Amino acid sequence: MNVLFERIRLLNPAQHLDGRYFLWLKEGRIEALSPEPIAADPDTLRLRGDDLLAVPGLFDIHVHLREPGQEYKEEIASGTAAAANGGFTAICCMPNTEPPLDHPALVRSVLATPYEAPVDLFCCAALTRGRQGEQLAPLLDLHAAGAVMFSDDGTWLANAELLRRAFLILKAVNGLVAQHCQEPTLTQGFAIHDGVVAARLGLKGYPAVAEDIALARDLLLAAAYEGRYHAQHLSTAGAVALVREAKRRGLAVTAEVTPHHLVLTEEAVGAYNTNAKVNPPLRTRRDLEALREGLAEGTIDCIATDHAPHALHEKLQEFAAAPFGIIGLETAVGVVLTHLVHTGVLSYERFVEAMALAPRRILGLPLPEIAPGAPANLTILAPDEEWRVEPERFLSKARNTPFAGWEFRGKPRWIVNRGRLWECTL
Ligand SMILES: [Zn+2]
Repeated sequence: MNVLFERIRLLNPAQHLDGRYFLWLKEGRIEALSPEPIAADPDTLRLRGDDLLAVPGLFDIHVHLREPGQEYKEEIASGTAAAANGGFTAICCMPNTEPPLDHPALVRSVLATPYEAPVDLFCCAALTRGRQGEQLAPLLDLHAAGAVMFSDDGTWLANAELLRRAFLILKAVNGLVAQHCQEPTLTQGFAIHDGVVAARLGLKGYPAVAEDIALARDLLLAAAYEGRYHAQHLSTAGAVALVREAKRRGLAVTAEVTPHHLVLTEEAVGAYNTNAKVNPPLRTRRDLEALREGLAEGTIDCIATDHAPHALHEKLQEFAAAPFGIIGLETAVGVVLTHLVHTGVLSYERFVEAMALAPRRILGLPLPEIAPGAPANLTILAPDEEWRVEPERFLSKARNTPFAGWEFRGKPRWIVNRGRLWECTL
């Protein structure tokens, strides 16, 4: 790698950096950057940067890679390639695999699996054995094996005593508990949000209060035992208010929201569209507005895709039988730039914070720097380029997206990481 971007916009709010620069990348490092032209080596590839924006490499902390056990949906190699194609230089994979990542050997095995894309892979381990919610997993051994987060994602750990113990045990390593907040008795057998669309289609609904109850209980426990707590994929106005209040009281609480909950409502289910069947479900306009407000003001720290690949035959089943989840790695940048940044909901600074910096702060990882001598860890975007979502161009094995055919403004062009420049081909 030896490339010079001419007059590219560099933006990193963590460094108070925003301006047009000549950026020379060589052998995996930032060789030089300057507002004035740089005399680079003669063999340097020169690229015009006038329409480009370089930011610290994007990080998605909520990705389902399906390996081990469901490689027909996705695997580590295809999921990391999809991440690179979507502009991410790092991801954290969820433990609801088969078997679940509840044993140190499984975490080590995932982290040691070879793959091609220049994407850093981090691992969230299960909170409880088999994700059954009955016995804690060996949290400290999992941490020693490399796990950076602990969650039974897909289900909520309802057992308060186990969550209390998890907070206390993880204190030794400043570990992070993450929860998928879903009170089980109110949501048994649900298909979509408990609202007008559920009533019209005759589907079992998941009331918003079931998310709020679970989150409120967790926040009380986190306060009582000073646990570090992360709320996964918020979907309700009530949840935003709860996190806002918890932060006001000084709790060590963070939260994420998905791109789809920021742009789609329950109406996207339309006439039984299984590519709008997600958990938590798409909710009302009022919830969507509250999520946007929470993200803009920083109550919600980051955007995470909850990339959930499924095979075509699974999503082609009748609505009630189809699995929950949609893929998100290759549409996140387009959704967020088009519908949040270009519409003025999010500033570019908040975009970088929510998609690159906050995920690393939440996991206690170092932030990439855009400075001479630093390892190059960048996402290079064409923020005004218009494009149409063609799922056949995805590098994910799956195609279950509600955004097929959507027109976006803003796409990832390259990622730079691990000594390589990778071209995105969406
Ligand atoms: Zn979840």
